[in-house]
Amino acid sequence: MTETQVAIVGAGPAGLVLARLLKRRGVEAVVLELRSRDYVEGRVRAGVLEQRTVDLLDEAGVAERLHREGMVHQGVELRFGGRSHRIDLSGLTGGRKITVYGQQEVVKDLIAARLESGLPLHFEVSDVTVADVESERPAVRFTHEGSEVELRCDVIAGCDGFHGICRPAIASALRVFEREYPFAWLGILANAKPSSEELIYANHANGFALHSMRSPEVIRSYLQCRPDEDLDEWPDERVWEELQTRFELDEGFSLNEGEIFDKGVTPMRSFVVEPMQHGRLFLAGDAAHIVPPTGAKGLNLAVADVEVLASALESFYGSGDTAGLDAYSEQCLRRVWRVQHFSSWMTSMLHRPPGQDPFEAKLQLSQLEYVCSSHAASTTLAENYVGLERV
Ligand SMILES: Cc1cc2nc3c(=O)[nH]c(=O)nc-3n(C[C@H](O)[C@H](O)[C@H](O)COP(=O)(O)OP(=O)(O)OC[C@H]3O[C@@H](n4cnc5c(N)ncnc54)[C@H](O)[C@@H]3O)c2cc1C
Repeated sequence: MTETQVAIVGAGPAGLVLARLLKRRGVEAVVLELRSRDYVEGRVRAGVLEQRTVDLLDEAGVAERLHREGMVHQGVELRFGGRSHRIDLSGLTGGRKITVYGQQEVVKDLIAARLESGLPLHFEVSDVTVADVESERPAVRFTHEGSEVELRCDVIAGCDGFHGICRPAIASALRVFEREYPFAWLGILANAKPSSEELIYANHANGFALHSMRSPEVIRSYLQCRPDEDLDEWPDERVWEELQTRFELDEGFSLNEGEIFDKGVTPMRSFVVEPMQHGRLFLAGDAAHIVPPTGAKGLNLAVADVEVLASALESFYGSGDTAGLDAYSEQCLRRVWRVQHFSSWMTSMLHRPPGQDPFEAKLQLSQLEYVCSSHAASTTLAENYVGLERV
């Protein structure tokens, strides 16, 4: 048997940021990860960081490369009806901005910092289970390098994503709120120069499209598709043709094309469990909630959760005060539902559901025109997109 103060299950953004924050607050933690380091560092996912996420990574001392390589954006473009409309994120929010920096780069920086500090982070653990979560000394059991280990702790942080084991372990204490969408995203990475300095969100009769980037040489683009879309039906030529169509402008526009080196389909889902804690097990990030990616919020929300949890644990270990831990779920859920609303609103405004009737299409267009022409409506989009203030 081994012991620690906080056992963190999962080395995604939530688990790794939590481990880093706890280290800086003098709280001991062990991080357990199912996959290999290579796998975790290579997983391509989010790319948009809110200002508050960047500020937190800065304070945690892991943002040096982010500032060097990340691309700071002060606006986004909405494209519909053959016209382009810029939302001035910074102008509308008192100078706040977003940074485009791949999630896997954030993860690499956090892993490097953890390993450099010599603190425990175990990859390729298996048979992970949690026990005694209603007691003051819960445990995580797992197999590592052929040995069975029981890790006793004060608190378990369930940062093991949507398909992890922590949420199912306390399922009977949770209420689920869920929505599936009748469409998905076909995402590509390609060696091509971005065709715009800022992200472009397009609503076209053929469906939604997003133009994004990972570096000055690599673009990330998405096309709305069916949830059961067969990638074999999407040779590269068809992907480019469809992207060109969905980003078309009356005045003319051509996307830069290049070699596609990654292609995949991402389902869209909204999901929340309440509460986000039971006994001494606290869920954070995708383990507790999923948002459709249109609002670019999943990673940011995971980081917001663990900021709350780290502060609560600091008080717990500093003075024995459990008020922060007791209020963890309530405090996180206020942000979670705001972000759920924003992500669902962006999704419904920008996607064309199958069988959309003409009335609905007109309403969507009217909503988009209002967002782009009203200062109040643009501000609503901007302040939610750059992220609400830190708690
Ligand atoms: C295509 C795509 C695009 C996205 N775009 C954006 C975006 O632009 N902006 C944004 O903010 N978000 C975006 N997201 C969402 C974002 O990637 C997730 O919300 C984020 O990864 C959540 O972090 P997490 O640490 O909670 O979970 P995860 O990243 O899922 O990490 C969980 C970790 O736990 C590990 N694990 C699982 N089970 C176990 C176990 N039993 N034991 C130990 N470890 C385990 C997993 O291997 C994983 O490493 C996107 C997601 C996708 C799929």
